[in-house]
Amino acid sequence: MPRLALLALTTLLLSTPLAARPPIVAVDVGHTLAAPGATSARGRSEFDFNRDLAREVAAALINRGIAARLVNDDGRIASLRERPKTVPDADFFLSIHHDSVSEHELTPWTWQGEAQSYSDAYAGHSLFVSQDNPAPEASLTCASAIGARLQRMGFVPTEKNARRRAWADHANTVHWYDNLIVLYRTTVPAVLFEAGVIKHRDEELLLRDPARQRRMADGIATGVAACLQVMPLADLTR
Ligand SMILES: [Zn+2]
Repeated sequence: MPRLALLALTTLLLSTPLAARPPIVAVDVGHTLAAPGATSARGRSEFDFNRDLAREVAAALINRGIAARLVNDDGRIASLRERPKTVPDADFFLSIHHDSVSEHELTPWTWQGEAQSYSDAYAGHSLFVSQDNPAPEASLTCASAIGARLQRMGFVPTEKNARRRAWADHANTVHWYDNLIVLYRTTVPAVLFEAGVIKHRDEELLLRDPARQRRMADGIATGVAACLQVMPLADLTR
């Protein structure tokens, strides 16, 4: 190859931004098989709800050209510190959960012959970010983008968590939740998403509907894609 052409090629390669690779998003399935979180009004574990939605979110991200990696899909990563480490090259960490209520707010009932408990007081999704995350502002930008998209699609958020957690962005139902290990043990922006209240008898049925899960996942993926586009290049090229 002539020297000049080689020089031009080298210059081209050196000037290609590192961020030309697709962004990588870690999608964490909250809780484990052994400690599956809350139990729904009809006796289904939160882990099962989390895994269904996380898989849909990963698929929706991949549809948008984003490299999604599921974390804890087998339900065996007990350590919250280990979860972000399983995708060391991730640009963004999203943990999928479903909400419950306190023990004293529950009413006993029987479903299909089994003693269960419910509360129809609260329904809807909410989002959480941590000030202790290394990128709290970028985390909040992403959480707000997800919340805004879901509300534009008609998903109704819950105010229930305002009782304990300060608002980070009230309009889009984002709270500060500083001591959540899974949010601050990452080196990248991170958001925890609560998809809805599984103790609510009507919302539980909505949350189990695969078509609605896909729609919600699509909204989440749209929000994530939007925030990754505006995230400073430095955050994507560490
Ligand atoms: Zn949870």
